Amino acid sequence: MVDDASRLWTRRRVLGATGGLLTAGAWMPPVLAAAAPPSSPQVKLPGTFAKTERERPGPPNPQPESERVGWAVVGLGHLSLEEILPAFGQSKRSKLVALVSGDRAKAQAIAKQYGVSDKGLYDYTSFDQLKDNPEVQAVYIVLPNSMHAEFTVRAAQAGKHIFCEKPMANTPAECQQMIDACKKADRKLGIAYRLQYEPHHRAVIQMARNKELGTLKLFTANNGQNQGEPNQWRHKKSLAGGGALPDVGIYCLSAARYFSGEEPTEVQGFSYSTPNDPRFKEVEESFAFHLSFPSGFQAHCTSSYSTHETKDLRLMGTDGWAAMDPGFSYNGLRLRVGMKSKSFPKADDTVERGFSQPSQFAREMDHFSRCVQENVVPHTPGEEGLADVRIIEALYRSAQDGKAVKLEAAKKLEAFRGPPPKEEG
Ligand code: NAD
Repeated sequence: MVDDASRLWTRRRVLGATGGLLTAGAWMPPVLAAAAPPSSPQVKLPGTFAKTERERPGPPNPQPESERVGWAVVGLGHLSLEEILPAFGQSKRSKLVALVSGDRAKAQAIAKQYGVSDKGLYDYTSFDQLKDNPEVQAVYIVLPNSMHAEFTVRAAQAGKHIFCEKPMANTPAECQQMIDACKKADRKLGIAYRLQYEPHHRAVIQMARNKELGTLKLFTANNGQNQGEPNQWRHKKSLAGGGALPDVGIYCLSAARYFSGEEPTEVQGFSYSTPNDPRFKEVEESFAFHLSFPSGFQAHCTSSYSTHETKDLRLMGTDGWAAMDPGFSYNGLRLRVGMKSKSFPKADDTVERGFSQPSQFAREMDHFSRCVQENVVPHTPGEEGLADVRIIEALYRSAQDGKAVKLEAAKKLEAFRGPPPKEEG
């Protein structure tokens, strides 16, 4: 509940910011949301459609620039330039204030495009001077996998909160070092599992928890792409840690864990590389794996660096299934659900559930910004990243030894995740 004074304050501020436009004509005054804090004006418009129509998310209600969390993006490669920087345009709580790159000319060009000032430009050596820049509260690490640990530790020592790309690191020991450094500096650590914030994936998680699919039995998933240039860092073991498994297979592994909420207790992996293919001298081309969970739930997944883009998944329970194809891409996700018809017991219902598809990157960054602003544990903290890297290590061991590897049982469901993300629109 908000008191009358702050309601009035919010109203004045909204009217001030819009030059009174919201009441012009006064045919339908906007409703000011009761829960809005005084500093964040929230506007809700009256409905247009009947209750039978899909609910719309409403206006995005972004926070004013001055209240948003300031981010530094570290590493200006494909993911940063093609997805993350554009996503700031859709974010509501996050703003880009600094860039870290080894290439000054590129950083300057990008800074111009996104309105980052010269004092917000750093390289990998001057990175530690971020500690003197109070505009930067969060650092997003988008570097090759082997560099995640070093830059997380340095960012924590500079007093910044850290959001780090997947896979969290190349070894469980590095992951633990990152967790410890953030704990010591009292900074938040989040791992960028974009799909754990995505509406279709959230819907399947909710269906699974509500037992809409009955008892979960099986999960299958495939994530593959055909790799080019043999000399890129993804094909160097020291930089990437491995090939298809930690880069794209991790999405299948992670989904099996978050759809079931369980942790696997036995895993088996199978690795393959075509002899003499220059791309796969150091890292594997394809990795298939099987995960067994305590309830009896089984996951069977494949990942590949030599198949045309393939990104599908299927979660099967006693009473229904949920399938996505594509299921792991940045946009265009399609979710179908199949179960016995509620209206026609002699029929199966297969429905397509279409949710809005906001930028997955804006959504995960805004979640992390909210965690910083409200002092909440991120939904995908360092421990969640460590859990995947531990399983990846066990899978490689299994593939090498040609037998299944047993893992310690988790003490509870959702063992490593923070509270579920609030809807971010
Ligand atoms: P990229 O090769 O396009 O960019 C990497 C950046 O790191 C480049 O700007 C490069 O100059 C810089 N760099 C600094 N030191 C380097 C070194 N020693 N060797 C190579 N590059 C170096 O890679 P990317 O696709 O942007 O991936 C970056 C990270 O993001 C990886 O951890 C990757 O797994 C992750 N990623 C996540 C997603 C996702 O959907 N969440 C998608 C793609 C990549």
